[in-house]
Amino acid sequence: MPNIFENWLVKIHNNLEINQEKISSKDFVFFNVDMIEKAAKQTVKFLKTCQTCQQNKEELLALSTEFPELLETIGGRRKFTNRLDKVLKHLRKEHGIYPKGYFTGLYTLIGVLIGFVLSLLATWSKFLSFFSSMLIFLGLGTIIGWFAGLIKDGKIARSQKQI
Ligand SMILES: [Zn+2]
Repeated sequence: MPNIFENWLVKIHNNLEINQEKISSKDFVFFNVDMIEKAAKQTVKFLKTCQTCQQNKEELLALSTEFPELLETIGGRRKFTNRLDKVLKHLRKEHGIYPKGYFTGLYTLIGVLIGFVLSLLATWSKFLSFFSSMLIFLGLGTIIGWFAGLIKDGKIARSQKQI
């Protein structure tokens, strides 16, 4: 079914393809320029119900033409990252859309921190030696956190809410 919203998605896709040649492929990957199109494909789902997404549509269109110029300077790079992050943050906070591996990274970090605290407690309470408590709690924390994150990311991917 033809959709009036699809036109701007095609436009973003074409803009990225044309402008991609103006910057190095290293910068294209490093600054996650392809996120512009990925964010647009999620944003299109909420255009009818969300005003911010309507504004973000214009922002993503603007970014798809402005990125080669923005990425030329350090200030521009910061501006580009901030503007794209703002769109991604909205998708995350308001619509539950998460980047691939978001929870695996987050939960692993939390697991490492909890494991570290527990191993310090175990050492201080003379329950275990420093080495064995680090091995046990830090190891367990990392594995549990990583595994929980994998499960959560898998759920998000299955519900089409992954960028
Ligand atoms: Zn929205």
